[in-house]
Amino acid sequence: MLSAGTEIRSKLPKVGTTIFTKMSKLAEEYKAINLSQGFPEFDCSPGLQILMDRYVRSGKNQYAPMAGVMALREAISKKTYAATGVEYHPESEITITSGASEALYVAISVAVHPGDEVIVFEPAYDSYVPAIELNGGIPVYVTLDPLYDGIDWDVVATRFSAKTKAVIINTPHNPTGKLWTESDLQKLGELTTKHDVAVISDEVYEHIIFDGRSHVSASAIPSLANRTFVCGSFGKTFHITGWKVGYCLAPKEISAEFRKIHQYLVFSVNTPAQFALAEYLFEPEHYLGLSAFYEKKRNLFINSINDIGFEIKPSEGSFFQNVSYHHLSGEHDLYLAERLTREAGVASIPLSSFYNEAVDYKVLRFCFAKNDDTLLKGAEMLHNVKW
Ligand code: PMP
Ligand code: GLN
Repeated sequence: MLSAGTEIRSKLPKVGTTIFTKMSKLAEEYKAINLSQGFPEFDCSPGLQILMDRYVRSGKNQYAPMAGVMALREAISKKTYAATGVEYHPESEITITSGASEALYVAISVAVHPGDEVIVFEPAYDSYVPAIELNGGIPVYVTLDPLYDGIDWDVVATRFSAKTKAVIINTPHNPTGKLWTESDLQKLGELTTKHDVAVISDEVYEHIIFDGRSHVSASAIPSLANRTFVCGSFGKTFHITGWKVGYCLAPKEISAEFRKIHQYLVFSVNTPAQFALAEYLFEPEHYLGLSAFYEKKRNLFINSINDIGFEIKPSEGSFFQNVSYHHLSGEHDLYLAERLTREAGVASIPLSSFYNEAVDYKVLRFCFAKNDDTLLKGAEMLHNVKW
């Protein structure tokens, strides 16, 4: 029974408030510079605001079609084709979701039944494992060092069993800023084909890639495309994390199953935002310049903390930079992140929060989706830390 005053039998007994909420709150409390939770400090473009305003004023304010506004699905289909040469049919293979969060949750719900195993590469974004567990699944981890160089595919192969039903991947990766190479994806394609399992590919940072590298989408690898849910989001691409509009690309039969759950979870997604995004996507410049924009910020941040003594490998993509402080202190990353917020006035995210067993590699994650002044001020304050 569930009633006030009785003990609730939790489906997520180990879960508390997310580290992002916790660190943002601490930053606010200590008036610290918030380089913790990943969201842009700057606003979305005036052009996009005008479009949103126009669609609200022109009456696009009722439920959108369950699978999404067709103009937006068509625009995503065109954009994906241009990037990967793969065609997802707007009618049957593209579904608009309430952010990538919903896409991930629904994809996991489709693929995972009670007792099924799901391979998760950690450090991992925090929403995957609770979604697996809510569906009765069992996460099986491939644990990587936060500054890892390449994936050991022999180790990955050992994680597959007769119970494995899905693998979750994320490229560009939050929190490490790593990109998966085409060869990584090919290897994953071989293993997932051999074991006949689904792939859930979180690609929300697809347009934030540095140093001339390219994003390789799971959709571009034929052995993966036929078994993959590609989960995307406009939150990161257009500085609109608060709009919560994302999407899922998947083959027709898989999308049909995906929509069965999506329709009862949210039914449909913010209508004027979908119309506005459909129109905004006509101009590829609106997202193709994003890598250069963030690369400058990454460089500014790295250059301004370079003399502190952190070990830094420049992020390859996303808007996160990790720094290792193992030369400077033996402090647990959770305590250090809190101390830096209180004493130095800079909030970050401890990498241990992305590990199932909270492994402490002495690494902090900083979000550089901030104004240059904020990044410079944050860097200056990090120079005052007593080690
Ligand atoms: N996956 C990753 C790796 C993320 O960093 C985020 C951003 N919070 C999400 C999924 C969720 O995206 P959205 O805000 O579109 O739900
Ligand atoms: N994706 C964001 C991050 O990694 C946080 C989103 C959230 O607060 N749930 O910081």
